[in-house]
Amino acid sequence: MENERLLMLPGPVPVPERVRQAMMRQAINHRGPEFGTAYADCAAVLKECFGTKNEVYIISGSGTAGMEAAVANFGRGKRIASLVNGKFGERLRDLGQRYGDVTAVESTWGTPLDLDALAAALEGGVEMVTMVHNETSAGILNPAKDVGKLARKHDALFVMDGVTSVGGDEVLADEWGVDIAIVGSQKCLAAPAGLAAVAVSDRAWERIAEDRPYYLDLAAYRKNGKKAPMETPYTPAVPLFLALAEAMAIIREEGMAARIARHRRMSASVRAAVSAWGLSMFPHLDAVHAYSNTVTAVAMPEGVTDSALRGTVKRMGIEIAGGQDHLKGKIFRIGSMGAVSAPEILATLAAVQHALRKAGVAGMGDGVGAAAEVLDA
Ligand code: PLP
Repeated sequence: MENERLLMLPGPVPVPERVRQAMMRQAINHRGPEFGTAYADCAAVLKECFGTKNEVYIISGSGTAGMEAAVANFGRGKRIASLVNGKFGERLRDLGQRYGDVTAVESTWGTPLDLDALAAALEGGVEMVTMVHNETSAGILNPAKDVGKLARKHDALFVMDGVTSVGGDEVLADEWGVDIAIVGSQKCLAAPAGLAAVAVSDRAWERIAEDRPYYLDLAAYRKNGKKAPMETPYTPAVPLFLALAEAMAIIREEGMAARIARHRRMSASVRAAVSAWGLSMFPHLDAVHAYSNTVTAVAMPEGVTDSALRGTVKRMGIEIAGGQDHLKGKIFRIGSMGAVSAPEILATLAAVQHALRKAGVAGMGDGVGAAAEVLDA
């Protein structure tokens, strides 16, 4: 690693050298063919990542800007059911409350979504459903297909936060009936932070609010996206678009199927290590929910503090994530998204294994060996 630290976080993730190099150049006109081509290239690969034929628009702003664009353009004044089982579900709930009338369908963080309660809310006339696909705060993958089916049955729009799944795990927005899907650049796409992309269905366009935000007006993005060359309404973060275009070239070279398989193999190897250590995964799952394939959340063993664990790992040059909000000190999380490969996983697991032993966890099995078995299979 040329860098001081290996970031094994659920974003931001390490950015490949050629992606960083793509930003390091003289300014270009954002109303010209070079920018238009970069934007169009990004949008084309993102469509594949989203699993959609719908148009994709790129916003200069982090993932939350994409979430706000979705809710503000399509949810204003509407009855919204917000599914919550972690921090980002709460964020979509809070955003919904700024623009619409929210029924929160809440489950304890890391436990399955309550689809019966969602069905009841939909019977009561809900017009929009919001859900986080990969709930990063809890390491749980929510059942997008089932939620999409319910939303469709009741003719509600389905907004899906794919911030930490799109570009890493399988996302089939069209097949699942997702109307607005969102991704952030610094997660599975392995690009620098600062861009969000949204894919919008025809059903959603038919229902766009009259009273829209100004900077995040998606109708303006749509209008400018139709120009040749393609444009954004206002001056975009051009260097980030150039970096994203290079990150998209890497995705195209790898191929989405191979990329998904790699993410699944990496996360399976981390789960194998957790199991061999004798630790518990954090989410409590039923059949339709699954463990995240981009971040692994682990219950903190008795007697180990967050600072002892992550402090030791950090001294070895690696950063993993702790728990957020009330899960601080109760879980730790290992990101395995983006350009991650076996050497980074093995180094991280070796550091975590050492830190856990040093913190006094007794009787641990060989997690690094168990992960290596998965990676070598
Ligand atoms: N949604 C999910 C699932 C996330 O993991 C994150 C960030 O960690 C966000 C939304 C927010 O994205 P950003 O921090 O880029 O605004």
